[in-house]
Amino acid sequence: MVVSLLTREEALAKVLERTEVLPAEEVPIAKAAGRFVASDAYAGVDLPPFASSAMDGFALRADDTPGRLPVVGRVAAGVPARRALGPGEAMAIATGGVVPEGADAVVPIEYVVDHDNEVEIRDAVVRGANVRPRGGDIRAGDVVVAAGTSLAPAHVGALAAVGLDQVACARRPRVAVLSTGTELRRPGEPLGSGEVYEANGAMLAAALATANADIVELAAVSDDDDAHRVSLERALGADVVVTSGGVSVGPHDLVRRIARELGVQEVFWGVAVRPGKPVSFGVRDGTLVFGLPGNPVSSLVGCELFVRPALRALQGAAEPGPVYEPGRLAAAARRNPHRDELLRAHMTVRDGEVVLVPITGQESHMIARAASANALVLAPRGDGELPAGARVGYLRLG
Ligand code: AMP
Ligand code: MG
Repeated sequence: MVVSLLTREEALAKVLERTEVLPAEEVPIAKAAGRFVASDAYAGVDLPPFASSAMDGFALRADDTPGRLPVVGRVAAGVPARRALGPGEAMAIATGGVVPEGADAVVPIEYVVDHDNEVEIRDAVVRGANVRPRGGDIRAGDVVVAAGTSLAPAHVGALAAVGLDQVACARRPRVAVLSTGTELRRPGEPLGSGEVYEANGAMLAAALATANADIVELAAVSDDDDAHRVSLERALGADVVVTSGGVSVGPHDLVRRIARELGVQEVFWGVAVRPGKPVSFGVRDGTLVFGLPGNPVSSLVGCELFVRPALRALQGAAEPGPVYEPGRLAAAARRNPHRDELLRAHMTVRDGEVVLVPITGQESHMIARAASANALVLAPRGDGELPAGARVGYLRLG
């Protein structure tokens, strides 16, 4: 049977075309790390909210230096001075303290001679020295975090610093994960003749949890029409369905047929990648349906190439990815003339450069070998080989 394969790029474009951003919800900032901001978040205050001291020292007027000035007050963080600073005066001030009205510079404590009620400044001080101007970081009303940003710890810190206790984020996509195969046995149970442990469900759930998936894990189904029908129908209540196994051409590969019977419109089947060629993709109403091949490494690769970017796009990511980072191949690798190959590799940094060492054991059933990899190297389809030292793109795993 001849099947025309889409390229990896075409297939991804078809997935992203059919992905609509999920509605937003307010998320407390303490729970927002890793989530995608749905609309621009604005600063509620100037930051700093007042002119503040960058150092422990003395607030004064630059024009009064050098000189010997009486210390007329003490300013602690959170405790402003009761009055303005007059000409020829100094006030002791702590880091973060409000620079008093009338002062225009702070001299660090290390640079003065402290005579209890008087302070001696031997060098001239520049106006503005060690004063953090009000709004110098951001102004009230400015965008502090833009829509589509994935919230890193610094974003969370910035949101808090401008007074926001919650932020609008796309809601987490509900993702149903369904493994298929009569031979599958739950880990922890004894293995019967011809059986293998069910690995994909837990693996895919783990991978997609890092893309904010709210996982609906279903019990694995045997290769039986009715079992497929019941579980797939349940799964189709989610935003995204990810099945594994049963998408090849064998008589026991039922996923695509049953999905079609349940109203899923198939968008494609077959992508020019290795591993993962028989991956299928369809939609029913708003639900995205990915059929990943059963071999665990194929499932993982399909998940990284298509499902993760879809989840990110569903959350309005500015960059759904996948983002291939640059590195160098440590050893030569053969290329496949027709299919992009995703090699499992170990990524290290040598002399400041990312070096990717393909692991031994590149077959698609070898999940235990793949577990020693932390990168997927893209060996683009083409003739010949990629020589050792070739520049390549890679995806981080885990
Ligand atoms: P399939 O894509 O259904 O033809 O399965 C291909 C291979 O992957 C077969 O050797 C299956 O036993 C194996 N396989 C399928 N699903 C899983 C799974 N969930 N966990 C581990 N191996 C699987
Ligand atoms: Mg199967």
